[in-house]
Amino acid sequence: MPRSPRRLGLSTLAVTGGASHGDPDTPVVQPLVQSANFIQEIGTADGLRYPRYGNVPNAESVQKRLALMEGAEAAIVLSSGMGATACALLALLRPGDHLLASNWVYGGTRLLFAQEFATMGIDVTLVDPMETRAWRKRMRKETRAIFVESPVNPTCRVLDLRPISYLTKEGGLALVVDSTFASPVNFRPLEHGADVVIHSATKYLNGHHDILSGVVLGTAPYIEEVRQKMVVWGQSPDPFACWLLERGLKTIDVRVARQNENARRIAEWCNARKEVRQVHYPGLEDHPDHEVARTFLDGFGGMLAIELVGGGRAAERFLRRLRLIKHAPSLGGVDSVVSEPRFTSHSHLTSDERAALGVPDGFLRLSVGIENVDDLIADLEQALK
Ligand SMILES: *Cc1c(COP(=O)(O)O)cnc(C)c1O
Repeated sequence: MPRSPRRLGLSTLAVTGGASHGDPDTPVVQPLVQSANFIQEIGTADGLRYPRYGNVPNAESVQKRLALMEGAEAAIVLSSGMGATACALLALLRPGDHLLASNWVYGGTRLLFAQEFATMGIDVTLVDPMETRAWRKRMRKETRAIFVESPVNPTCRVLDLRPISYLTKEGGLALVVDSTFASPVNFRPLEHGADVVIHSATKYLNGHHDILSGVVLGTAPYIEEVRQKMVVWGQSPDPFACWLLERGLKTIDVRVARQNENARRIAEWCNARKEVRQVHYPGLEDHPDHEVARTFLDGFGGMLAIELVGGGRAAERFLRRLRLIKHAPSLGGVDSVVSEPRFTSHSHLTSDERAALGVPDGFLRLSVGIENVDDLIADLEQALK
C-alpha cells in the first residue's frame, strides 16, 4: 500500500488496517497462534508475552485494527463486553469517586453499578438523559466520569452527546460511551467529544453470534491502565476469540450497511401494520431522536423495536409462529433474531416498572440480519396474521 496522508476508509481498515504489507510468504490472513506460553528472552522481563496480558499476536493485531477503525490511539480487547465496561471504569474511578450514568443502560451494566460499585465506595447516580440540564444538576466535586449508552438498548433512543461533552470537557471529566448498538460503521463517538468508547464485540464487531468479546478504546496511557486492570482481574481474551473477531471485522462495513438497509425496510413495513402499535427506529421521521440520529449517525442501525397490539399474549403467539427469524437474546449478527426484554434484560422488573422505562409488555426487539429482506418481511407477515 503506498504511504499517503489520506486517511483510509473504514472498510479498508476493517480488512487490512495495521497489517504489514508483507514480504513474500507472509500470510495474507493473521494466523491463529493458539498458544498460552511463549519462549522468553533470558535475563530480562521485557517482551514477556502471556494471553492474560493482552499482548499475544492475535490480540495485538485485532487491537491495532480496532483502534484504527474507531480513530483511537489505542484499544484493548477483553473477554466480554461486561469485562470491558468493568475494567474501563475501574481504571477511571477510585473509592470516594462519583459516576454519573444514564438511566438507560444495558442490564448487566446497571447491576455492575448497583451491586459492585456500591460496595467499592464508588457512588453512581443514574440520570434521565432526556431531562434538560440533568447532568449539570447532579454533578458533584467528586464526579470523575459520565457514562452513557447510545443508541440505547432496547428502546433505540439516540442521545445528543454535545451538551454532555461540553460538561465533561469543562470539568475535566471522562465521557465514556457504550457504542455497541451502532458499531463504528454507524457511529464513532470519539469524533463527537467522547474520551472512551466501549463495545460488546460479541455483537456487531464480530457479527456472527459465535464469540463473546469486548473492547475499550481511548488514549494510549489510559488503555495501558485498563490493561493493568485486566491483567489482575483476568477478563482477558483467548487467542481464538481474537482470531474470530478479526475475521468477523473484515466484513463489518458490508454487513452493517445491509443491516441498516434491511432494518429501515422492516421498520417502514411494520409502521404500516395495524397489528403493530408502535415502531421504534431512529431512521423513521417520527422517531423522537430522528434529528439527533441524523446529526451523529452515519446509518440508523440494524436494531429496531416493535410494540404489538395485544401485549404479552400477542408477542408470545407471534414468536411461536416465526419460521425464519429466531427467538434469541443477543444481537448484531448476520442471523436475524428477536427477543422479548420482559424475559431477558428486564426480567427482574415488574410490568409497570418496565413500562416506565419504555418497555411495555408486547415490546419486541429485533436485531436484523443480512438475509433477503423480502424473506424477513414475509416471515413477519405470516407470524402477525
Ligand atoms: C451485550 C451488551 C453488553 C454486554 O456485553 P457482553 O459481551 O454480553 O458481556 C454491554 N452493552 C450493551 C449495549 C450490550 O448490548
